[in-house]
Parts: sequence; C-alpha cells; structure tokens
Amino acid sequence: MKPIVKKGILLGRTRFKESSLIIRVLSEDGSLVSLMFKGALRRKSGIAARIKPFALLEFVYYHKRERSIQTASEVSVVEDFSENIGGYNSQVRAAKYIKKAASLLQPEQSNPEIFDIVLALLREWEKISSLPENLLWSAFLLKIMTFAGFAPTIFQCALCNGKIDERNGAAFSPSAGGLICSSCPNPNDAIPFTAEMVKSSQFLISNSFDKLFQIDISANAMNKLAISFERFWAFHIGEDKKQRKNNH
Ligand SMILES: [Zn+2]
Repeated sequence: MKPIVKKGILLGRTRFKESSLIIRVLSEDGSLVSLMFKGALRRKSGIAARIKPFALLEFVYYHKRERSIQTASEVSVVEDFSENIGGYNSQVRAAKYIKKAASLLQPEQSNPEIFDIVLALLREWEKISSLPENLLWSAFLLKIMTFAGFAPTIFQCALCNGKIDERNGAAFSPSAGGLICSSCPNPNDAIPFTAEMVKSSQFLISNSFDKLFQIDISANAMNKLAISFERFWAFHIGEDKKQRKNNH
C-alpha cells in the first residue's frame, strides 16, 4: 500500500494503550482525519514531541477506506506557530477558533477553504490577536460560515432581495437568513442593526483579517455583531454536529 503524505493542523490527541497516540487532524484538504501512531510515547520514538499544537504538520499514513482511524508512520513540523500564539490565554483563545472551524466539518466531507482560513489565522495571529475579540470572532464566524455554505445574506434584504439602505435602519434575523430592509416586516428574532453595524458586517465578510484594523466601530456595536452571528450560527448550524443531525 502506498503511503499518503498530507499536511494538517492538530485538533486533539489522546493516549491509546501503553504507548500509542490517537490524534485528530484538520487536514489540508479540509477534512477531519484520525491517525494512530503506534509506540509514539516510547522514549526512543520522538514522534510525540513532533505532534505539536499550533503548527503546520506533515503526516505520512496509510489510508484504508473501511477504517475510521488510519495508521500513521511519520510526522514532521513544517511551520511552527507557537511563538506567534504566545502564552496560555492566547493559546486558549486560538484553540477556540480552530475548534469552531473544525466543528463545521462533517465526516467524509472536505472543505479546503476552512483549512486555509485556520492556517491564515495562525500565521497572522501575532498581529491580529490585538484586535478586539468581538470583532475578530465576528469576522471569523462570517468567513467560515460563508465557506461552509451558510453565509448570512448581508448585501441585500434576505426577505425581498431589495437594497439595504442602512440610513433607514435595518435588522438582522437568523431565521430569515440575514439582514432585513426597513420595508419588510421584522421576524420575531430580528435584532436592530445600526448603519455602522450594517457597513461593518459587509466589510468583515469581504476583507482579510489584516484589513480589520481599518474598521471604526464602537465596542457596543461590535458586541451586538458577535451576538447576532452567534445566534445565526446556533439557528443554522447548531451547537455541535450531533444537534445538527437531530434537527434534520
Ligand atoms: Zn426587504
């Protein structure tokens, strides 16, 4: 059998039996892969030390269709972001982003853009982590939802497809699928959006992380945006995959 060589980002690792490790990886093709490294914890192996969080790793493994955990033989560190990420609090914060992106992926599904966005986030973390959490989180949610095909409608009215004139006021409704213009009746879950919030949402969805420093938005508005996109996520995606499965 020919081995597969693929890059990926570590999602989690668990000890298996005496000296083996099973790890979960967000693969470069945007799929979730489980790998088993037999004997990785043996003193001489050196494998465990190379299975680093916050790094771009390269794995060599043997793929068998019928298996849910693939047997891996080698791992190397291609790019280490741990210095970018910094201390414990920053690690917890970055891990939350990686987890959220991975939670969008179903088994057997691949979405390379989700991997790309996580990689971009880790590469730029040192700079962009100084952005307010509500702003970075809102931008991240919008981007990964867009790549997963769940983007809220924010350039036109989600109900009538009409133009959003933010000067007349607008609202954001998770159940309706995004922004609602001032002429349409507001659904029960509508959250009022100021002109500043409409403009910022549109900016967040169309620009890369490093451009977010250009946004001038109040802390209160940022907070409301983050809450709105979290509600949109909860309505369309659910808290985790199990819940999503139960909903359909
Ligand atoms: Zn409308």
